[in-house]
Amino acid sequence: MMDLKKLVRPNIWDLKPYSSARDEFHGSASVFLDANENPYNEPYNRYPDPLQWELKDRIAELKDVDRNSIFLGNGSDEPIDLVIRAFCDPGIDTIVSIAPSYGMYEVAANVNNVEFRKVELTADFELDADKLLEEVDEWVKVIFLCSPNNPTGNSLNRDEIYKILTDFEGIVVLDEAYIDFSAEPSFLPELKKFPNLIVLQTLSKAWGAAGLRLGMAFASPEIIAILNKIKYPYNVNMLTQKQALELLNNEGQMLEQLRRIMSERIRLQAALPELPIVQKMYPTDANFILVNVGKADSVYNKLVKKGVIVRNRNNVTLCNGCLRITVGTPEENDALLKALKNM
Ligand code: PMP
Repeated sequence: MMDLKKLVRPNIWDLKPYSSARDEFHGSASVFLDANENPYNEPYNRYPDPLQWELKDRIAELKDVDRNSIFLGNGSDEPIDLVIRAFCDPGIDTIVSIAPSYGMYEVAANVNNVEFRKVELTADFELDADKLLEEVDEWVKVIFLCSPNNPTGNSLNRDEIYKILTDFEGIVVLDEAYIDFSAEPSFLPELKKFPNLIVLQTLSKAWGAAGLRLGMAFASPEIIAILNKIKYPYNVNMLTQKQALELLNNEGQMLEQLRRIMSERIRLQAALPELPIVQKMYPTDANFILVNVGKADSVYNKLVKKGVIVRNRNNVTLCNGCLRITVGTPEENDALLKALKNM
């Protein structure tokens, strides 16, 4: 059974958090002389809600989770960093993750001076839970998984994820940034069963709001309380809270964009393998496709010269020769296909 107190860094467990002027809600008050704000220049003169309750209530409704099980941050990159800061003692504790995967887990570990161990996926980018669990010793506090995985695009096998959730007594972060594009269901309904699970999602992908910077972490209220304790007091600004709420109240628009992206994904999946330059195309559950083009650096540079920018994943673990191509508009995808055809 997971013992949260044993997992959290002792100084964080004992930490007395900063108490901001707006922590308490004063619904009936009309004179606010408590936060050294300028009384003019509304609405920006006021500090935003530090716990973003209006936004969380909408997310709770959309995702069918308790509002106290939600943490909101400046992109999902913020909770990635906070989880490491909360659970991993610099120079002592260890994180285990998969390779290849999203690069920020390792960078955030390095910033925090926390050892980062990578376990290679199988040749078809599948997770081998037993192999990963072999890397676990008493210093491993957090495991980072990503499904659908970036840059490979595939969803990890659910049984292997369950195995890690069951057998590992530390924190399992499951990054679901691309879940809305996937045929596989989210692990959000599993939160109640696994107190060690943290699910990450974001408005940056399917919701089309990378510029707003809003990331979501879902976990037990106990874990969320720890993240709240160590975050910056006003970590999600007023404009982001307002725009994000508007966006989330317009789910139909997102679903329409999602439909278009999915139909373009299907078109690209049919067209790419027909091109002589494409040696292999990998299955995807995300809004990008990984393709092996052999001499990836050269193909990448030729695409740049034609004004088409993709992500060069050559030299990344198991991705030699690969480019990662985001699904764009029909016109952008036409430009990509045309550029690749003439190589
Ligand atoms: N997780 C994964 C797997 C990603 O690919 C990305 C963005 N590339 C992120 C998280 C970060 O997303 P955000 O914009 O919410 O910080």
